[in-house]
Parts: sequence; C-alpha cells; structure tokens
Amino acid sequence: MNIGQEILEILKEEITELEYNRYIQHLNYDVKKSTSDTAIYYAHNALVINWIKNKYADKIAHLFEVKTGTKVNVQITLKNRVNNKKTKKQTEQKVTNSLLNPSHSFSNFMVGGSNQFAYAAVKNVSENAGNVYNPLFIYGGVGLGKTHLMQAAGNVFQNEGKVVIYTTVEQFLNDFTRSLRNNSMERFREKYRSCDVLLIDDIQFLSNKELLQEEFFHTFEALKGDGKQIIFTADKHPKKIAGLEERLKSRFEWGLVADIQPPELETKIAIIKKKCEINKVELSKDIVNYIATVIDSNVREIEGILSKLHAYSQLMHVDIDLDFTKNVLKDQMNENRANIDMDMITQTVAKDLNIKPSEIKSKGRSKNIVYARRITIYICRELTQNTMPQLAQYFGMKDHTAISHTIRKINELINLDEDFKLKINELTNKITSSH
Ligand code: ADP
Ligand code: MG
Repeated sequence: MNIGQEILEILKEEITELEYNRYIQHLNYDVKKSTSDTAIYYAHNALVINWIKNKYADKIAHLFEVKTGTKVNVQITLKNRVNNKKTKKQTEQKVTNSLLNPSHSFSNFMVGGSNQFAYAAVKNVSENAGNVYNPLFIYGGVGLGKTHLMQAAGNVFQNEGKVVIYTTVEQFLNDFTRSLRNNSMERFREKYRSCDVLLIDDIQFLSNKELLQEEFFHTFEALKGDGKQIIFTADKHPKKIAGLEERLKSRFEWGLVADIQPPELETKIAIIKKKCEINKVELSKDIVNYIATVIDSNVREIEGILSKLHAYSQLMHVDIDLDFTKNVLKDQMNENRANIDMDMITQTVAKDLNIKPSEIKSKGRSKNIVYARRITIYICRELTQNTMPQLAQYFGMKDHTAISHTIRKINELINLDEDFKLKINELTNKITSSH
C-alpha cells in the first residue's frame, strides 16, 4: 500500500464509517505526481472536493506530518471533467424545444399570495377561451412561472382539440425572417392566423423591432377579430417596455394585465415538494426548508438544485442528507463570509424586522427589540469570528456570560419552534448571499 492510501486507512479510524464510505474511500492517491511535500489525491466530482477540502484536508495533512515528519501540502483535484460537460450540453438542447411541456400543468403549479392573481386569470381564460380576458398579459421577473402558467392553459386547450401555437418572440422572428427570405409570407400568415390559441412568450423582445411589430400587430388584429384567445408574457408591464409601438402597448392592455411576484417562503416550500414528487426525489423536511431559504426568488433554481442533488447522490451512492445538501448548494449560496461584519448583520436584521439598527445596539427592553437583538447576536456568533467578549462589547452587554446566555436561548428556540428556525435560516442566507 502506498503512503497516501495508508494515511486514509489511519483517517478511517478517526471518522465515522459513514463519512469514510461517502467521501474518503473514493479518493485515489497519485503516487507518481506526489512528492515528499505534496500529496495529490483525486476525487470524482467537484462537490466532493470542496467537502473534503473543508472537512478532511487538514486532518490528512496532520496525519502525513505525524507519519513522515514533514509538512505536506494536500491537494485534492478532479479526476475527469468530461461528465460535467456532457450534462450541460444536454440541458441546453432541451431549452430550444418549443412544444408545450406536459408537466406545465395547473395541478403542478403551486399557488400562493405572490401568484394567485395571475393563476386565477390564466385558469379562468383556460375555461373560457376568447371570452373573458383577451388578450391576457402576464408579467413578472425571471423564473417566477410565467411560461409554466401560459403553457398550462395551452395544455388544457390542446387537450380539448384546439390548435395551439406556443412561440417565443425569438422564434416568431426567426420564422418571420425565414418567410420573408423564402417569399413564403402567405404561409406564415396562414399559420399564425388559423390557430385557435396563440401563446407568445417574452414579449419584451419585440422592443425596437419595427418590422416585426408591424407584422405582429396584424396577426393580433386578425386573431382578436375572430375571437381567438391570445396570451402574452413579458418581464415588465406593457407600459414599461421601451421601443414598443403605442398601438401595441394599448392593445396589450385591452384584456387583463396580471403580475406575478416572487414567491413567499411557504410557496417556495410547496414548489420544492411538488418538484420532488414529480422528479421522484425524496428529501426530508429539513432539507426542503433549507433549500427554500437558500434560493432567492427564481424558482427555476429549484430544479437545478434538485437535479444536482439527485445526480450527485446517484453518482456517489449516498443518501441526500442536510450536510450533503449544504455542500452541494455552496456555489449557489455564494458563501463568502469574509465581508460579513457585525454592522452589516445588524443592519440586515434591523431592516428585516422593521426596527432601527441603533435600537438593536441600545439597552432597550421592549419585546421586539430584545427579540431582534438576540437574533442579531446569534447570527454574529455564527457568521463572524468575533469572540464572546467582543460580541458583549459591541452590543453593550455586561460580559460574555450575557452573550452565551443569549445564544443558549436562541438555540433552545430553534429546537422548539420550526418557524423560528426557518426565520433564522432565511436571515442567515440573506446575509451570506447579499454581497
Ligand atoms: P418564467 O417563464 O417566469 O421565467 P417559468 O415558467 O419558466 O418562469 O418557471 C421556471 C420554473 O419554475 C419552471 O420549472 C416552473 O415549472 C417552475 N415554477 C415556477 N413557479 C412555480 C409554481 N408556482 N409552482 C410550481 N412550479 C413553478
Ligand atoms: Mg419564461
């Protein structure tokens, strides 16, 4: 056995069997490239590397030193990157497919305060094509479910035997220019004017394309005149889209304009659970809650995270537990604690709880001030390197026992109260991802 493997055998005695099986046994020591002061190990994916570096690299280095008497620099690198590239390419191909996605259904769409207006509008339209809101215009930020909702209506119509065209402005433009070039505008017009339902995604890309807007306007008039249902989405309210003809803007508002807002925590949780169900991924409540607090608002991230978790757990034959999840999500969280200081934490908590930062640092005894102060202290302890006496000084407390008392209290609450725990997680993630 080479020295590198020997060291891992010793490490095996110091960690749990589970840890060893998950992370250490797959490491390969490079006998050729390692030297007396550099130990090179290979792992098979980037995520394990981070994990091992954080958790075991120091231990491994220490064991080397004990065994060989020299300080060794431990390097853990990736064996091959081919697999990663392949997956990326595959997902890219998927995006260009313009057909309706059958899993974009109403039953798969989780409704909460942030999206219930848009949901109700689209649902209503799907039950009364052409008769209630025509056109229906949905707008909102990236990844909030506009395409999903639009296609949910499209799927309903399609199942009723209607001819549905779903297209993005980009595809519409490609189709248009190709038809101009091939002298086939007749066919182009026939296609878009003979459908029963027209769904056009990401209308903001019409901006400054005069010729296309002209054609688009006539398509709209023809369909609307025939009572055919039209649904649009965009990232902004029609009024706010620059470089758009006035007559188009006004027509976009003829029917109903509905917005989608970023999902609240509960809605995010519901969405994650739904996605797990659809993708047959099993996650504990803790993990679901954790993911919900880490992702910001873009729901699209959820699918990325789940497939990442799933892929890595398959690859490594491990169950998905909270530590594993945290490790996988590290990139997403952009966790750079160096820039986080007590001022910044105090400000973020104060803003979130609607009080002044100076109140957190004051001696105020009112309930919500004490509450905010305790949370701030706890998070400062978690996220900064400050010692208890330093914390005591910063928060104007008598001595470090007051700080340790506070931290004990918060820990108790976290264990008792699920909502409180979520709140703390949410704040922590806000702080770690806001710079
Ligand atoms: P947008 O078009 O607004 O950028 P999408 O409709 O493409 O966003 O949604 C991004 C992803 O998030 C999709 O996989 C979609 O299914 C999912 N999603 C968004 N909102 C919800 C929701 N409320 N319930 C379930 N899935 C959702
Ligand atoms: Mg979209």
